[in-house]
Amino acid sequence: MTNKTKQLGQNFLIDNNIINKEIKRADVLESQIILEIGGGKGILTEALLQKAKKVICIELDKELFVHLKKKFQKQIQAKKLQLIQGDCLDVQIPYFDKCVANIPYSISSPLIFRLLEFKKPMYFMVQKEFAQRLFTKRGDKNYSSLGAVCSIYFDGHICFNVSKNVFRPVPKTDSAFVKLIPKEKIILSKKDEKKFISFLRHIFCHKKQNIKKTILNTGLFSKEKIEKIENEFTMTMKTYKFSAEEIYEIYKRLDVLG
Ligand code: SAM
Repeated sequence: MTNKTKQLGQNFLIDNNIINKEIKRADVLESQIILEIGGGKGILTEALLQKAKKVICIELDKELFVHLKKKFQKQIQAKKLQLIQGDCLDVQIPYFDKCVANIPYSISSPLIFRLLEFKKPMYFMVQKEFAQRLFTKRGDKNYSSLGAVCSIYFDGHICFNVSKNVFRPVPKTDSAFVKLIPKEKIILSKKDEKKFISFLRHIFCHKKQNIKKTILNTGLFSKEKIEKIENEFTMTMKTYKFSAEEIYEIYKRLDVLG
């Protein structure tokens, strides 16, 4: 694999059955504008164009952008396809109804959180292991800060798993097609958002330790303060056994103590 292939996650899907399965599971409708991240050689773009009202496709790689421009010349002229060359984490994203994409795995997490603000359903091909971490629930040994953060913002699940052998070049791991629906109501207040997520990430670094210890390790709250709320929460329980909501309750109680 070349450096560019690796950096830009250029593992292209070669199996049309998987493409059809994605389109079906994402329930792409004739009335919808679909956002695609990373058009690549256009296998998914082509299928989306057959179903949707319009496709907006963002591709970072200049060579692939030129390839897509040639391949879909007619659809671009007919304004059925809007091609944007640039980094999907930076470019301005026009209105869309749904995002369906085989995304570059290295930016899975920032991309999901960038698209969150649009409050639209997202259907993504991601690394299988990443997909599992997204949807693990508290108490599971794989429950991580990613799963906890995801549960605050999204409902969703793994739609189906995909073998690594349907990509070229063949990546190291298998993939999974996931559905993420941004939640209407988020428990987290805007003012707490950044601080709480950083707190959550911090305490999950040692998720098998009890929560009293992991909170103490953040250096944000003193032992005295934590002990003041010990009768309200089971502070001796291991960190990964708490849901994000419960941890937020603890955080808020500690925060009001100043
Ligand atoms: N859609 C194609 C397919 O299904 O075969 C390609 C998918 S490939 C996994 C990911 C694509 O995203 C590549 O074409 C790559 O060049 C592009 N890409 C990588 N980083 C990007 C970024 N930051 N913004 C937009 N596109 C990006």
